[in-house]
Amino acid sequence: MNPEDKHFVIAIDGPAGAGKSTVAKIVAKRLNFLYVDTGAMYRALTLKALKQNIDFHNPQALIEMAKDTTIELIQNGDSYRVLLDGQDVSNEIRTEQVSTNSHFVASIHEIRQLLWDIQRSYRKNHDIVMEGRDIGSKVFPDAQLKIYLDASVQERAKRRYLQLKQQGIEEDIEKLQREIEIRDQRDKNREIAPLKKLDDAVVIDTTFMTIEQVVSAIIDLYKEKTGKV
Ligand code: C5P
Repeated sequence: MNPEDKHFVIAIDGPAGAGKSTVAKIVAKRLNFLYVDTGAMYRALTLKALKQNIDFHNPQALIEMAKDTTIELIQNGDSYRVLLDGQDVSNEIRTEQVSTNSHFVASIHEIRQLLWDIQRSYRKNHDIVMEGRDIGSKVFPDAQLKIYLDASVQERAKRRYLQLKQQGIEEDIEKLQREIEIRDQRDKNREIAPLKKLDDAVVIDTTFMTIEQVVSAIIDLYKEKTGKV
């Protein structure tokens, strides 16, 4: 048996705003698994390209930049930090500018391969909950449990609206919905590693569910798979 196979992987894929991060963090904590946010890695590279004024239409320049970058995800209790070349960029990678430009690096195969290697390495020493768009399809096609987390676009826009409001930012909900629709299109229609519902994934539509209900559903699926209680 390949030594990497022995660690359990819960792969959580789904569109932006479906609640993946919130749910994945809680599931990981309850099961004592490592939580890995792959979106943060695409965001970190996007931030670096913005800072260095790299032309997003020059894939070769983006690939060179990515090869020369270290990204670390540091977890300490309830604190999750993202280090880009040793600098803490946890907040900076969450801006709208990074969100809207992350599709450039995400659509370059060589960059995805670099990140896949890092993502796969987490399984060597840990059971993991990993969230993203291509975890069940590309990173760990052999994940023991695959979840596709979904929600209506209206609900996802509403959640984003409330999240921003909490931070004191007033945004137009229809504008947020349009932005989410654009990101959905890009994630689902890109040539490389598009977001899709896999035949072996369990689809959970969270539109009318609470966070606790979604967490419980995933933990129940884990227990069913492993026989653990
Ligand atoms: O999940 P999050 O919104 O933080 O991801 C940021 C961007 O990175 C997304 O727009 C998505 O296109 C890309 N991404 C990806 N594959 C992943 C995770 C994120 O292409 N596994």
